[in-house]
Amino acid sequence: MSDPGVATGFDVVFVGSGVAGLTGALRVLASEPGARVGVIAKADLASSATAWAQGGVAAVLGDDEISGRGDSAALHVADTLASGAGLCDVSAVEVLAGAGPQRVRDLVTLGASFDRDGAGVLELAREGGHSAARVVHAGGAATGAEVERVLVDAVRASDAVLWEGCFATDLIVEGGRCRGVRVLGPNGGLCEVRAGHTVLASGGAGQMFSVTTNPATSTGDGVAMALRAGVAVADVEFVQFHPTALHHPVMPRPLLSEALRGEGAVLRDQAGRRFVDELASRDVVSRAMTERMRASGADHLWLDVGGVADFAGEFSTLAAAIAAAGMDPADPWLPVAPAAHYLCGGVVTDLDGATSLPGLWAAGEVACTGVHGANRLASNSLLEGLVFAAGAVDAIARGKQDPEPTGALSAVLSGRPDRGGVGAVHLDRGPRPGPLGPVAEPTVVVAALQRAMSRGAGVVRSEASLDETRRALLALPGAADAVAAGAVAAGAADAVAAGAVAAGAAGYEAGNLLTVAHAVLDAATARRESRGTHSRTDFPTMSPAWRHRLIL
Ligand SMILES: Cc1cc2nc3c(=O)[nH]c(=O)nc-3n(C[C@H](O)[C@H](O)[C@H](O)COP(=O)(O)OP(=O)(O)OC[C@H]3O[C@@H](n4cnc5c(N)ncnc54)[C@H](O)[C@@H]3O)c2cc1C
Repeated sequence: MSDPGVATGFDVVFVGSGVAGLTGALRVLASEPGARVGVIAKADLASSATAWAQGGVAAVLGDDEISGRGDSAALHVADTLASGAGLCDVSAVEVLAGAGPQRVRDLVTLGASFDRDGAGVLELAREGGHSAARVVHAGGAATGAEVERVLVDAVRASDAVLWEGCFATDLIVEGGRCRGVRVLGPNGGLCEVRAGHTVLASGGAGQMFSVTTNPATSTGDGVAMALRAGVAVADVEFVQFHPTALHHPVMPRPLLSEALRGEGAVLRDQAGRRFVDELASRDVVSRAMTERMRASGADHLWLDVGGVADFAGEFSTLAAAIAAAGMDPADPWLPVAPAAHYLCGGVVTDLDGATSLPGLWAAGEVACTGVHGANRLASNSLLEGLVFAAGAVDAIARGKQDPEPTGALSAVLSGRPDRGGVGAVHLDRGPRPGPLGPVAEPTVVVAALQRAMSRGAGVVRSEASLDETRRALLALPGAADAVAAGAVAAGAADAVAAGAVAAGAAGYEAGNLLTVAHAVLDAATARRESRGTHSRTDFPTMSPAWRHRLIL
């Protein structure tokens, strides 16, 4: 693979090759076959969080597919809003539930093989927070692998230009518009990819925490790039922890899918007692588990899968993961603990995926479309990537250039609460470090950052724990150097000029993780209430005064 050098003249470039980036790239080519489309991926094309997704895609497919199982888009909207704890953008959720079924059918057309019963009808799972069984899945709990497979195959067979092993370092902003991205090529060359439209599809930031289900690629690069360019970012205090990650040193932690609890698995404490409604939303279950673990001093609890019919057969990929971790899949009591799983916030977009910077779009986990609010509903994120990446491409095809005051961007641009009453408050971050450039000792910095964030900014937080975490991050060698060198609020390109490129992509990732971690700490400190995934021991209740997004 060679470095892209200076690549110009692209119509649309996608940063990321997960469900959002590849769905978008294929849609551009389907609607405009001659378009020049590029996909930049820091690893190989198939390496993404998407490939790890298990449970499935939530979508109400309609009577033709489901044969009268009593579900509706309105119920999907209601469940998503309930999970989001008052911070969802209602219009964005309606777009998600309304457009979702067609996007799932598109995947089937592309060749995705979802699980079906003997009569060929799609099998649907029920997951926590869903009032009906509506989750389409593949290979039991290998949905993401199937989705990524069909998308990668289709993109490889297309005319898209693919830059694998190329690390996007920063946005190119000229004349108030995004003109593409700077890239560290696979051979270490600093390159530029210029495009009429740039779509951030770079995924989440689970690597901020030492216990996570996210792959190594989830380092918050897109959110950090946006922060460096002054693009609106919000809701980053809402980090979702998945309740049932297998308690085992392997990282990322194998996930024991929510679908298991839908099929009868129950949680038990060290004394074997049940203590929570296993089908409650993730924040409720994770918090109950954390409290139970703190009370007893235990570092894990148990998921009892004894009630799941044919566990090894129906969930063969999970049984294989358990065996691969050296445990006996025939033992029904599996050790579990919550693990960082999903960044609910990100780069704020309107209903078409446009960000506050003209020419820049965001889709998938990197985005804050408003569909997740304070807590993502299970199996809504693959769907969000499918729906909003396609929506962004359609808006680009229509000739849209500038963001509009709709969706999560509505209150940011208009200054008024959105249709559902959610406002926007710009967070004054004071003298604290803003965006950081690449750091010199990435391995040391990342390990210490992960430990500090897990200790003080995890499932439960307080002002004291967040302050202590901030002090720990500021004491890190890379952070201190970057701050002292004046890299605060400067683009990574400046830091590169200062010689920091020696650290390579890992140095950028560490700088990005620091940038996003500081953003999480600042937003979590400012939000003096508990809501959704954000749980403060010093402000344990939800307050109506906090029904707004904190904009960074
Ligand atoms: C274990 C696990 C299970 C899950 N299960 C489900 C589920 O059942 N249902 C569901 O809906 N969701 C699930 N999720 C969440 C879901 O998988 C993700 O939110 C979703 O796949 C994100 O897709 P994406 O396209 O936004 O990003 P990703 O799939 O993470 O892709 C990001 C892409 O960006 C690239 N990238 C990142 N930074 C850079 C950079 N600087 N330069 C170049 N390239 C870059 C990466 O290489 C990658 O190609 C699960 C997640 C995990 C980890």
